[in-house]
Amino acid sequence: HISITGVTKYFGKHKALDEVSLELAPGSVTVILGPSGSGKSTLLRAINHLERVDEGFIQIDGDYIGYRQRGDRLYELKESAILRQRTEVGYVFQNFNLFPHLTVLENIIEAPIVHKKLTRPQAIERALELLDTVGLRHKADAWPRQLSGGQQQRIAIARALALNPRVMLFDEPTSALDPELVGEVLDVIRSLAQSGVTLVVVTHEIGFAREVADQIVFMVDGKIVEQGAARQVINAPQHPRTRRFLANVL
Ligand code: ATP
Ligand code: MG
Repeated sequence: HISITGVTKYFGKHKALDEVSLELAPGSVTVILGPSGSGKSTLLRAINHLERVDEGFIQIDGDYIGYRQRGDRLYELKESAILRQRTEVGYVFQNFNLFPHLTVLENIIEAPIVHKKLTRPQAIERALELLDTVGLRHKADAWPRQLSGGQQQRIAIARALALNPRVMLFDEPTSALDPELVGEVLDVIRSLAQSGVTLVVVTHEIGFAREVADQIVFMVDGKIVEQGAARQVINAPQHPRTRRFLANVL
């Protein structure tokens, strides 16, 4: 279970997140919508402690992200502990970021060997399972540059899953793809949604959101202005800003 409680984040004087509170149930799928600059990426980065928040806190299964509690005070974790915590949060973003000098298989097994202390054979076995999951086992020995954008993104998803994260964050995972490649990546995310991993997806793919999301969150200027079941927010938006946004993307 993930709890985001009263999170505020400033960049200089600009308030990028403004008292954001949100609950993510285990295995649920949350889609975050909102115009450019509304704070969607900042919120995902905060969940991974890539941005330190100025107020509020984020907890995963009761553990504070970036902090540990002692008495009634919070102390920031050491870098090594932050890195360990980050392995429990899978993060997939727009531009795949596979390691270009490593094969597909090496891309996937590196982090589990370093962070989870898996042996190489154990890591390879798991990597091949994950390649099956994303339909790319036959590409295990390929180099990233030999793959299409959609295939690279599916590998990036497999690589994130290799650490068995408690939650997977997706930041516009299909927006850098040619239209005909979007479907294959959404299909992988859709199958994850059924597998019980908690998912948070920033996307403009409204059809996907309506079909897969348990809850939709609509952000404007760092604030959640509307939140609810997918059908409710997309079919019957209450806030004028949500209506205008949907009218433009549908
Ligand atoms: P988009 O849809 O364009 O990706 P977004 O909703 O993801 O937008 P964010 O990237 O979270 O928006 O940015 C929220 C606000 O914070 C924006 O006004 C942005 O300019 C600002 N911002 C984000 N990162 C930084 C930074 N590192 N330094 C200064 N300002 C930042
Ligand atoms: Mg963004």
